Amino acid sequence: MGAHHPERPQRISAIEDQLIAAGLDSALTRFEAPLATDEELARAHPLEYVQAIRRAAPRAGTVHLDPDTAMNPHTLNAALRAAGAAVMGVDLVLSGKFSSSFAAVRPPGHHACRARPMGFCIFNNVAVAARHALEQHGLERVAIIDFDVHHGNGTEDIFEGDPAVLMASTFQHPFYPYSGTEDPASNMVNIPLAAGAGSKQFKEAVTKHWIPALDRFRPELVLFSAGFDAHAEDDMAMLRLVDDDYGWVTAQLKSIADRHAGGRIVSMLEGGYALSALGRSAVQHLRALAGLNA
Ligand SMILES: [Zn+2]
Repeated sequence: MGAHHPERPQRISAIEDQLIAAGLDSALTRFEAPLATDEELARAHPLEYVQAIRRAAPRAGTVHLDPDTAMNPHTLNAALRAAGAAVMGVDLVLSGKFSSSFAAVRPPGHHACRARPMGFCIFNNVAVAARHALEQHGLERVAIIDFDVHHGNGTEDIFEGDPAVLMASTFQHPFYPYSGTEDPASNMVNIPLAAGAGSKQFKEAVTKHWIPALDRFRPELVLFSAGFDAHAEDDMAMLRLVDDDYGWVTAQLKSIADRHAGGRIVSMLEGGYALSALGRSAVQHLRALAGLNA
């Protein structure tokens, strides 16, 4: 994204470092993500948009797609692999080979709207995962859980009113991108949290709002938009979550997945910019996905 940009390559190595430090590294099976195809991307975006992004990719230097979102000569490949990881994660889990997958990818995706890049995001990775599960694997109900500190406006743009998808989210409000609170569609369980809110308010939102809606919806697959920027140490925003909250919320959703979805969970990295907190929180998320917190 350019020099001094918070969405930086070190985010991935920070997660790797903490996985090793936590002793989780050896418990994981690793895959290299393939490039997403136009067909896979066009389930979430108009094909014209996908082609416009391909044309926008520079041979040298940097082009800005919006004030926060840039492409250098490597960005297109990274964005295609991030979306390809979504497809692969769904395939690995729905084939029964693995109960869950986590994609440590950049750029993130949940601000990418149907036909607009935004907020560090180019392709909406979790939307590509959801549509792959619905259209390629024939599922009928998929839940998207978004605990990033920013509202996943792109995911909402793609799925609002879609009865096959229930999106449950928490986000700081009022805050970028200033969406999610005005008359959301009935398949959007949007719970805004005020600046300064922490574990207590987050757990209340999950317990009182997400869980009952998810039990009524009975998802066949649970997808995470896993952004870790609501952590207290992350100065991108002003929520006050701690490491353990990420293990807790993941365990709550694992129970939902166990009840309704045969335990199947696919998680995509979104935000998280305080490197140590990002890595530690991702470890809590993965430990809970693997059932190691019990
Ligand atoms: Zn975010």
